[in-house]
Amino acid sequence: MESTYSALKKRVREKLLEEWASLFPTPGYYLHPPALLPRPFMGLGMFIAGRIHQMRSEKSYLAAHPTWRSPDADTSCPRCGLEPETFAHAILSCPSRQHSRSRLLHGVTDVGPEAPLWSSLPLLKRLATFIGVTSTGFPPTMFPPATPPSSPPFSLSPPRLPPPVFRVFSLAEV
Ligand SMILES: [Zn+2]
Repeated sequence: MESTYSALKKRVREKLLEEWASLFPTPGYYLHPPALLPRPFMGLGMFIAGRIHQMRSEKSYLAAHPTWRSPDADTSCPRCGLEPETFAHAILSCPSRQHSRSRLLHGVTDVGPEAPLWSSLPLLKRLATFIGVTSTGFPPTMFPPATPPSSPPFSLSPPRLPPPVFRVFSLAEV
């Protein structure tokens, strides 16, 4: 009986996801598949989880994610000026965040939809700490980004922030 119920539940969930994707397809820039349960990163605390949601959706305060209000804004990274400030650039390659990255982001090498990061609690905690320490994706009115290295004085000192609150969902719940 249990196996029949489990099989039915699985089929219903698959059908629901299939219809969701069919009736309400995500925009082409959003590469993450729909899910019926909360993503594990949603347990990282509302503020940090919100930053992650926004950056994954390319609708964030990063310079390469312009809004409808500023469609022609400069997409260059305001911290290094070397390339557009995308999610991948901000997390994985921005040289102005290198100090914090080498200290805090060990093991995080991909932020794409298939990255191990999205199902690894240790990696998600590292990402949350990195985002908090570097104010990545924060509203500029809250925490202005550091000036580029070419504009002295440049400091790698992290802004003062409350420690991130971790309440990560168990993978068994997902
Ligand atoms: Zn940069």
